[in-house]
Amino acid sequence: MKLRRIDEDLWELPAEGGMKVPGRIYAAGPPAPDDPSLQQVANVAHLPGILRFSLAMPDYHWGYGFPIGGVAAVDPEIGAISPGGVGYDINCGVRVVTTALHEEELRPRLRQVVAQLFRDVPTGVGASRAIPALADDELDGVLAGGARWAAARGFAAAPDDPSRCEEGGRLPQADPAAVSDRARARGRDQLGTLGSGNHFLELDRVAEIYAPDAAAAFGLLPGAVAIQIHSGSRGLGYQVCDESLAALTPRMRDFGPDYAALPDPQLACAPVRSDAGRRYLAAMQAAANFAFANRQVMTGLAVRALCRSLGLSEGELGARVLYDVCHNVAKLETHAVDGAPREVLVHRKGATRAFGPGDPRVPAPYRAVGQPVLIPGDMGRYSYVLAGTDRAMRDTFGSSCHGAGRLLSRGQALKLARGRSIDRELAARGIEVLSRGRKTLGEEMSEAYKDVAQVVAVMHRAGLSRLVARLEPLGVIKG
Ligand code: 5GP
Ligand code: MN
Ligand code: MN
Repeated sequence: MKLRRIDEDLWELPAEGGMKVPGRIYAAGPPAPDDPSLQQVANVAHLPGILRFSLAMPDYHWGYGFPIGGVAAVDPEIGAISPGGVGYDINCGVRVVTTALHEEELRPRLRQVVAQLFRDVPTGVGASRAIPALADDELDGVLAGGARWAAARGFAAAPDDPSRCEEGGRLPQADPAAVSDRARARGRDQLGTLGSGNHFLELDRVAEIYAPDAAAAFGLLPGAVAIQIHSGSRGLGYQVCDESLAALTPRMRDFGPDYAALPDPQLACAPVRSDAGRRYLAAMQAAANFAFANRQVMTGLAVRALCRSLGLSEGELGARVLYDVCHNVAKLETHAVDGAPREVLVHRKGATRAFGPGDPRVPAPYRAVGQPVLIPGDMGRYSYVLAGTDRAMRDTFGSSCHGAGRLLSRGQALKLARGRSIDRELAARGIEVLSRGRKTLGEEMSEAYKDVAQVVAVMHRAGLSRLVARLEPLGVIKG
């Protein structure tokens, strides 16, 4: 594929054939031309109504239809919404909760604290229950209310948690009635559960501050302990995605020639304003609210576990949500296109919103410095907090990367881990890790992931987000 370098860390795929816009890839060096995810960037550029570019963030890699790390905004009046542009784990996302605890207060009790978290926050594929299986009317409340539903039931670090989440912890156009019985059945006993594999709940220390102004606004102090949670909509979101793909895939011809001509069946999509498009959007937003509620419930569980194991009151722990980002979602947002603000539908699939300073959609305490951008790395090295920028608003519909991205497949990682004891290796470096899955630690070890420092360095150099702080793991629970 023909790639043109247009800036230090930015590469362009010219619009060719049926591509409606060029592709733009953020990467530290030239993208490998035979990487199949580059073809996916070009494929996404065929999407009806796509605006400006098919974008890939520096953690991009192959995904279902869209690359993970892909961003595509469409004109909702003439454009398409694609479940593959959101991903199977609808509103998979990350939240960071700050505390008043210092790492030196935690260290002597670290083992017990991690063990308590592991007992209290259900992990793994199955559903041990943080809260009993929800009846349909309660589940409707979750699907409509998101983080607010959970906070109102006392699962919270502080009462104002939801106001410090992306979209206030709730997508307002969710329709619980659009979520099928099968999806409900899968979700009703999974609220407040972490899930498996890449999902985690971590205790981090604030290891280094790069931008004192933003760190102060975010409440990040050197040496303080923070809780980081990565999880999504569990079986409920997966089922919503699966059912919409099954419904849309055979219908591409019905939607017109642009749809029939899409180069990959995994790009199955529907006009945003069609019945099928509306139905997916309504169900997807409900699943997104389930994910917000899920992270909010686990926030409450984690706060209680920390208080219990450390003998602290909630006031003494001083926990507060810093922010909560969605990294698998499609949202109607207003952006400047050709100089004028208009509503667009932004798909972010393994990409994080990164709104700049002054934007009214950034919570008031952070508005002067930009939206917190939460980027996990891996369980053995570090994660980063960044802040959104004006440049992101201009160039990427206010978007940034979402993680390190895998370097090794699960199989390759397991091979490399054979004969090693990953938890003991981590413990030797002061990191306590507990996992339910027997294979998880091998699949998820640091070597399985790219170095996230290099990924966020591209974001910083390209000006799409600026570095605020580095977090380093002290304790981790994995699914
Ligand atoms: P996802 O799996 O949602 O696409 O990506 C989330 C990102 O989380 C991965 O790219 C990886 O960088 C990061 N990650 C996975 N496991 C862990 C972990 O245990 N701790 C931390 N801090 N990051 C992780
Ligand atoms: Mn995720
Ligand atoms: Mn996920």
